[in-house]
Amino acid sequence: MKTDFLFQCNYCYSRFKTERGFLKHHCKQMHRDEDFKSLEGQAAFLFYKSRLVEKHHARIVSAGAFKSSKYYTAFRKFVDFAKRVDIPDANLYITLMVSKKIEPPHWSSEQAYGKYLNHITRKLPTEKWIDITVNTLFDIADVGEVAIGDVFTVLEAYDVIRLLEQRKISPWILLNSKKFAVFFKNKTTVEERIILENLVNPDYWKPRFLNNKKDLELAKDCVSALELD
Ligand SMILES: [Zn+2]
Repeated sequence: MKTDFLFQCNYCYSRFKTERGFLKHHCKQMHRDEDFKSLEGQAAFLFYKSRLVEKHHARIVSAGAFKSSKYYTAFRKFVDFAKRVDIPDANLYITLMVSKKIEPPHWSSEQAYGKYLNHITRKLPTEKWIDITVNTLFDIADVGEVAIGDVFTVLEAYDVIRLLEQRKISPWILLNSKKFAVFFKNKTTVEERIILENLVNPDYWKPRFLNNKKDLELAKDCVSALELD
């Protein structure tokens, strides 16, 4: 007498004689498929696509390719990492990783993140970093329900320290803002001023301002448009 297998897993094709056995079944492929459908899984898929477009000029990238990719877990880890350290422009991060030939399993490392922070500070065109800064300030104004020109009334020193550490705010804007100068003088402790000074690094920026007149103009225009002067 032949045994009837009435149930079969759609993912791994395992077969089951009883419904109970089938319902209890949970395989790696099934888990990945569920994970892929989550918000994080979808974000990981977008990052996976960005890398292939950047690295291999791919046009069409299928979900199936991602789900069976050896880098699936690395991309999922990167989604969590990007959220935790709050990367403002993940595509910029990916472009940099590709150009530095850093493979996805290493993207979430301190070294890779350090390279990204360094890149923003030293190499990123000023207008790009100003863009990031403007977006950051709009978000803060939104959450704090204040006008952009009043962001420093809702920010504390440790917020500014964190934003500088994450390169979400540029010294180009801060050092040209009178409102920041007032904030720095009145809303910070001695210790905070030391940390801020270290992060804003005027000794590095002031000469760079003077050597980049156009960028300095741009930063100043932006500061006055934001009413932070
Ligand atoms: Zn299965």
